[in-house]
This record gives sequence, structure tokens and C-alpha cells, in this order.
Amino acid sequence: MAELARARILVTNDDGIHAPGLKVLEAAARSLSDDVWVVAPEVEQSATSHSLTTRRPLRVRRFGERRLAVDGTPTDCVLVAAKKILLDGPPDIVLSGVNHGANLAEDVGYSGTVAAAMEAAFLGFRAIAFSQVGISGQPVDFAPAEAWLPRLIERLYDRPWQRDQLINVNFPPRRANEINAVRVTHTGRRDASVGLVEGRDPGGRPYLWIGDWADDSTSDRESDLAAIAEGAIAVTPLHLDLTHHAALAALKESFA
Ligand code: MN
Repeated sequence: MAELARARILVTNDDGIHAPGLKVLEAAARSLSDDVWVVAPEVEQSATSHSLTTRRPLRVRRFGERRLAVDGTPTDCVLVAAKKILLDGPPDIVLSGVNHGANLAEDVGYSGTVAAAMEAAFLGFRAIAFSQVGISGQPVDFAPAEAWLPRLIERLYDRPWQRDQLINVNFPPRRANEINAVRVTHTGRRDASVGLVEGRDPGGRPYLWIGDWADDSTSDRESDLAAIAEGAIAVTPLHLDLTHHAALAALKESFA
């Protein structure tokens, strides 16, 4: 693996190539290496999870020498980058984000930001997803991510990476100089799940709209939710293998 100053870094996201959080992550990557590539969705793909576009062709648009957009999902972007764009050498690390808003607890299952990192891990690359948690009703302020990204990327890059592993990082909505801890956490569970808003459109027809977001309260003090609530950066290792290993023996027993 190349040292970070020579590393090939692929930057992607799910908020789209014009998203402010992508620019923050791209700038951090460029402060660390000269070989930075951006391959991101042309338009926002939040909550598309790990979906792959298979029923229509994909188009690639070039915005700069090393800046390209794909009219697909975050997963499409990582695949296209690895198999079509970076033909002279694979990325040493894939960075996804910085997402506009949290990817904590069950968000991880819906997140396009995390899915891009999952796809990178599938392909055998080191991968980190970054998200900046906001305060409800206010625009997300990326300053904490901006201040902490370079040293976090440096620290995470040099650690031993295991196959099928990725890292999920969330920055708390605190002033950067008030953040004094990086907490290694596990993925939590909110006490309540996301809700539905009911209403009527201007023509009088009823609709349902997903997005009555649950609050982040949790009783699990070791979780990503708790770290963010306490103003720490939450760093969670994730694993691609969804097998519930503890259940294997009992399930085998049921079919013996
Ligand atoms: Mn997003």
C-alpha cells in the first residue's frame, strides 16, 4: 500500500457532485495526496442504499480532469470508477461523503453514503463513509468535518485493514474546537423508527410522506448515537458479512 501522500484517493458521495459536503471531503483528500479522483452521482441519491442501476444505461459526464459524474447511484459510481475510469491503478482508499446529515444507527441500512463505502469494500479497497450530523431545522454546518477530516483520514489509513471491513464516521454538530473526543462505537438503535406524514396534495388526493424522523434518544451509552449526543466523533467499524454468526448453530440444529 502506498503511503498516504502518494495514495490514490477516490472520493464519492450520495448527495451528488455539486454537494457542499463533497467539496469539503475533496479538499481534505487533496491536502493529503495529489492523486485524488472524484466520481459522484450527477444528482442526489440519498437513501438509495446499495442499489445498482441495471435497467438502463449509465452516462458519465466529465467536469474536470479527475472529476466525473455518473447518472446513477453511489454504488454505480464506485463500480464505474474502479472498472472504467481508474484503469491505470485502483484506489488505495475510497472516501464517501461528507453526507449532509447523520448516518447513525438504522440510517446505515438506508444510506447511499455508507453503501458507496460498502461497494468499495466489496471490491477490496479501504473505505470510509463520513457524515456531518446537523441540528434539526438548521442547515448542516460542515465546519467540524472540515477541521477534523485530514487527521482522521491519516489515522484511519495507517491502521491494519481487514477484508470486508469499512469504517463509518459521524461528526457531531459542535464547534470544531469543542470536539475533544473520537469515540469508537457500535451501530445503535433509536428507540423509535422513522414515521410517515399524511397529507393531501393541492388536488385533494391523500399522500404519505416518509420522513417524520425519529429523535436520536437511546439508552445504549456505547452506541454511535450516544457519542454524537455527547459531542464526540463516532467511529464505527462495519462488516459486509450480514451473517448472524451466533445464530448459525441453532439454525443448523433446526434442519438437522
Ligand atoms: Mn445524503
